[in-house]
Amino acid sequence: MSRKARGVVEVVDDAGDRPYDDRLETLRSSLGLDGLSGLLVFDPVNIRYLTGFTGSAGVVLVRPDECLLVSDFRYRVQAREQAPVARFVELEGAFSPLAPELVEGFEGCLGVEKDHLKVEEWEALAPALEGLDVSLVRGHVRKMRRVKSAGELRAVREASLLAVQVMERLSLMQVVGRTERDVALELEVWARKHGSEGIPFPYILAWGPNSAKPHAEPGDTVIGQGGLLVVDLGAVVDGYASDITRTFSTGKVGPEEARAHRVTLEAQEAARREAGPGIACRHVDKVARDVIEGEGLGDFFKHGLGHGVGLEVHEEPGLSSRSEDVLEPGMVVTIEPGIYLEGVGGVRIEDSVAVTETGVEVLTEMDRGLLTLS
Ligand code: ZN
Ligand code: ZN
Repeated sequence: MSRKARGVVEVVDDAGDRPYDDRLETLRSSLGLDGLSGLLVFDPVNIRYLTGFTGSAGVVLVRPDECLLVSDFRYRVQAREQAPVARFVELEGAFSPLAPELVEGFEGCLGVEKDHLKVEEWEALAPALEGLDVSLVRGHVRKMRRVKSAGELRAVREASLLAVQVMERLSLMQVVGRTERDVALELEVWARKHGSEGIPFPYILAWGPNSAKPHAEPGDTVIGQGGLLVVDLGAVVDGYASDITRTFSTGKVGPEEARAHRVTLEAQEAARREAGPGIACRHVDKVARDVIEGEGLGDFFKHGLGHGVGLEVHEEPGLSSRSEDVLEPGMVVTIEPGIYLEGVGGVRIEDSVAVTETGVEVLTEMDRGLLTLS
């Protein structure tokens, strides 16, 4: 949509620049279904999602009639700029994250987000909540965050493109002869220089037997010639993360390693083909697992198939054998089977995909073959 103002054509982004009013309304309806008339939000990521505020200290009180952002003087200006949807309330020298007058006259049951509250904070909060009907709850905002708006998808898409570019750097770099840590750091710096707002997680770069550890931390191991190299990285754009893994070789690999790569790729492709709207997350996990088990390698794939990606790099829904969730258009999830052969090496192939009306859109499109790095 575009409109003319004072002789200039201004492009107005209607797809999510000011989505906060809508999100608060959706939240109020979901709270209403659970008999709650308000919510006290502690998780900073949920606070950002609901109001746009990115500060690290603050509590949001969603009331039926308004939304309050309670913080201290350090965030006065920032809150005004980022979160006009909320009324900023400054607490002076506060021991409690909330003052009793803020909940004065509150009618009905107030939900308190419990999954981000320390016992200490809860104790400090108690006097302000005295006499109120309070219920400790979780999940209302997290559930909303699963399905992304057009604006959110745009950010994840951009973060994914950037992550692919970071991964592609590897073929232009000297890798053999350097430590895992050194190469990982160079990639992290490159990502930040090219537009990533920080990194969503410390990059994983694991060579040889280290690659058999699914969450290996890059260390002092010098990458040698031959063997597998697992690289797991991402980027952040407008607060939204991306996540991609590719497995390379640094020369010759043995038949076991080559087979692990072939089977992982087959499993990943099968899961990508199967994923789509209305499909149970558990089922997508099973499709990949069946391929790996069919080759007798089931014991070497012990983690879930994937996870949601958004403001956090690991969020709902989870794709695992225990998941009760069903994929919906607008969800962004990873598909990342792996085979880890202790003492030999590991393979993981991971893409971030967005669920569409008909299937999935791969956001981290890039060659998945066993490319050789030098
Ligand atoms: Zn990853
Ligand atoms: Zn992942």
